[in-house]
Amino acid sequence: MSLLVVGSVAYDALESPYGKVDRTLGGAATYFAISASFFIKVNLVGIVGEDFPKKDESIFHQRSIDIEGLERAPGKCFFWAGRYSENLNERVTLATELNVFADFKPRLPEKYRESKFVFLANIAPDLQRDVLKQVKGTPKLVAMDTMNYWIAGSNAELRETLKHVDVLMINDSETRQLSSEHNLLLAARQIFKMGPSTLVVKRGEYGAMMVDRNGVFAIPGFPLEEPQDPTGAGDSFAGGFMGYLAGANSRSDAALRRAIVYGSVLGSFAVEQFGLERLLKLKKSEIHARARHFAKLTQFKL
Ligand code: AMP
Repeated sequence: MSLLVVGSVAYDALESPYGKVDRTLGGAATYFAISASFFIKVNLVGIVGEDFPKKDESIFHQRSIDIEGLERAPGKCFFWAGRYSENLNERVTLATELNVFADFKPRLPEKYRESKFVFLANIAPDLQRDVLKQVKGTPKLVAMDTMNYWIAGSNAELRETLKHVDVLMINDSETRQLSSEHNLLLAARQIFKMGPSTLVVKRGEYGAMMVDRNGVFAIPGFPLEEPQDPTGAGDSFAGGFMGYLAGANSRSDAALRRAIVYGSVLGSFAVEQFGLERLLKLKKSEIHARARHFAKLTQFKL
């Protein structure tokens, strides 16, 4: 069993009240793959430029992440710069330089085409669909992320992609924007009509909520005293979520609920330090300990 992801591998410049880094490895597929690799082998599809050094390549090689699908092209890697507000809940994008990403045409190596679990990170919806078309048969579970830019600017393409997706994982403002409903339960009902059977709403420090035809499951954010940098929290959440499901080879209701917990665990570690710093030294035992902590946190008697 393996897990396929398509998305950005990037360099980020990050600023928060806790510090600043000028250029560090990031990108949605990077955060996703590192988080998911604690549970399962990950096959990564993306593109990098000539400025992608061996030392960063080795971050993937040292984990169970296959990068045969990471194309190298003349030019520079995708570059993104962002700054966070005092409470870390808001961020402004200071720069998005697509570079090699501008002409990206995802191509799946033959050995990736049998994937049963697929995650389409936040990229152009027609590229997400391109990837799905190259997967043989019907995968067991397809999940995707998107953002306000695509909801507003490529709505028709996005809706076409959504028809082929089981789980949509987005934040609360994106949920409202896509569905034109303020209430998240009503929003979920609209989104089910577009294709997905499960909606996972990522709510930052307030946790996550999953809605499907069986009902609602919600957990709080893991209480942290000093989160430093929220970059990649959503992608790490998705990595924990999909990694757990692919590792368990299941999409049962019970597995989906545990996946929400593992997603939250990975997201909470990601924000503890800048960029990938915390994830790169994370141990499996710490992941399981925090999952048990979550169980305690949400337990009560009636
Ligand atoms: P998140 O904090 O979960 O939104 O993810 C942030 C990561 O996504 C950063 O490492 C960026 O390099 C990457 N990113 C930011 N904007 C985009 C975009 N428009 N397309 C693809 N990746 C992006």
